[in-house]
This record gives sequence, C-alpha cells and structure tokens, in this order.
Amino acid sequence: MGTIAFIGLGNMGLPMAKNLVKAGHTVVGFDVAEANMAGLEQAGGRRAASAGEAAADADAVVTMLPAGPHVREVYMGTGGVMERAKSGALFIDSSTIDVDSARAVAAAAEEKGFEMVDAPVSGGTGGAAAGTLTFMVGGSDAAFGRAKPILETMGKNIVHAGGPGTGQAAKICNNMILGISMIAVCEAFTLADKLGLDRQKLFDISSTSSGQCWSLTTYCPVPGPVPTSPANRDYQPGFTVDMMLKDLKLAQQAAAGSKAATPLGANAAALYQLFSASGRGNLDFSGIIKMLSGV
Ligand code: NAD
Repeated sequence: MGTIAFIGLGNMGLPMAKNLVKAGHTVVGFDVAEANMAGLEQAGGRRAASAGEAAADADAVVTMLPAGPHVREVYMGTGGVMERAKSGALFIDSSTIDVDSARAVAAAAEEKGFEMVDAPVSGGTGGAAAGTLTFMVGGSDAAFGRAKPILETMGKNIVHAGGPGTGQAAKICNNMILGISMIAVCEAFTLADKLGLDRQKLFDISSTSSGQCWSLTTYCPVPGPVPTSPANRDYQPGFTVDMMLKDLKLAQQAAAGSKAATPLGANAAALYQLFSASGRGNLDFSGIIKMLSGV
C-alpha cells in the first residue's frame, strides 16, 4: 500500500478518498475549502497545506476537481503537483473536464517524465460512497496498468478507453447520448398524454420495442412505471440538470474543436440551458419533462 495524494475533497472526492483509506493507503488530502479536509482527517487521512505539499511524498496523485482550469492550475501551476511530485509518481485525474485540457495536462506530465491517466467516472455520489464507480480511462497501457489497482478500490468497472483524453471523450459521448435520449423519451410521454395513450401502456410497449433505452427502462421520467426513478420523488436528484448541462457543453466544445456534426447534442444543450435558466438546475435531469409538457 502506498501514499496517495487526493486533491479536491468535495461531494465525490471525499467519499472516494475515504475508500482509499479503507483499502489501507496513506492518504494526504488537500482542498481549497478548509472544512472539506476535516472529513478526511476523521476517516484517518492527513491534510496538507497545498496541492504541491500533498503530492510531495505521494506514489500517486488523484484529483477530483470542478473543471479544466482547476486541473491545469493544480498540476501545472507554480508550486503545483508537477513541481513538487517525486520522480515516478502516477497522476490520475478523475474530474470531468474538456478533452483539450486533459490532453494538455497529460502532455505536460509526459514531458516531465510522469505517467498520467484521465479517469472520469459515472455512478454519482452513491457510487463514490459505495466504491462502485465506473472509470473511463485514457492513457498508455503502462499508465493504465499502474492506475487500475488504485481505481479498483474506488470503483467496480475500470475500462481502458484508449490514449490520453479518451476517458473524457467516452464520458461526454455517453452523456450526450443520455441527454438526447432523455429528451426523446420525455417528448414521447408528452405526446402520448395528448393522444390519450396511457403512460403505463406506452412504457410496456416501448420497453420491449425499438424505442427501448436506459432513459425509459431505468430512469423513466414519469411516475409509476419504474418506481425507483426520480420522477417518483418529484425529480429530486439523482443527476442534476446543471451537471447534465455541464457535460453537454463539454460535448459541444469538443464537437466544435473537432468539426463533428452533433445537431441533436446542440439542441439538447440549448434545452437544458433553458430549463436551468428557469431556476430548476438542481432538479434531476429527467425533470425536463416538466418544461417540455408545459408544467
Ligand atoms: P464539488 O464541487 O463537490 O467538489 C470539487 C472540490 O474541488 C470542492 O471541494 C472544491 O473546494 C475543490 N477545489 C476547487 N479548486 C481547487 C483547487 N485549486 N485545489 C484544491 N481543491 C479545489 O464537485 P463534485 O460533485 O465532487 O464533482 C467533482 C468532479 O466530478 C466534477 O468534474 C464533476 O463534473 C464530476 N462528477 C460529479 C458527479 C456527481 O454526481 N457529483 C458525477 C460524475 C462526475
């Protein structure tokens, strides 16, 4: 068991860091929000005064930060991780960030002789606490091989997506499918209501027909057919509208940079932006049916 620096101890990072402590690692944490470090100390970890200090004695550095600029700053900033980490340390960034930032930080790490993977997650805070996250990992075979045993203490499915940045690419492509398919399912239920088609009947038919998808069968946006879906608790999250919007915007940024045509992704981003602007960004993303049905 080695020493792991954990930077970014928020809603996801703290429970993930706790699972590393539980697995027997020495975990040295840092977060700009002082209060977030107390939780790690209570769980048996240590606190550091900066990201660079946390990284100084670490065999591996894990980051779970809000967005690309935070990740660039923590790794590449003055006194940051790359300046202070010891030779041979492995870097794992699990934040959801833009592909360009992920590739820029990975390239800078490689130039300085460090191995790095981008390893964004799916599974939410519940998965982070239970240690059942899915990690989508971008990086070399060697870096993936070193990261895997660490990621296995925080997750259940560890998938090697390809070279640097492909973990982030997998995450935003998947969530673009999810955002678009949720809107499609919401529109279908809205139309069914207008046509006098019973919601349960539409569910029974489409869930065994060609309209079948996760947004329908696991996360059904109307109450009733899937008792565990957020629709049954007035759209309490779950996965919030604002988190979906963040990922859809990252997908649009990547599409613009790579000249990919993603018209439905663009529409999904615009609709989630509209829904968020109506003050409902903290609802579960399946709640967009409220806006589409005029409720
Ligand atoms: P969060 O805001 O709760 O946590 C981020 C933490 O980073 C905060 O505690 C903040 O104080 C800290 N931070 C910011 N700048 C810092 C810096 N320079 N140095 C040290 N700490 C710094 O967010 P979260 O929900 O934990 O999400 C983290 C990442 O995981 C995001 O990229 C998010 O998109 C992604 N994600 C979140 C979920 C979810 O369900 N919450 C699911 C999948 C992926």
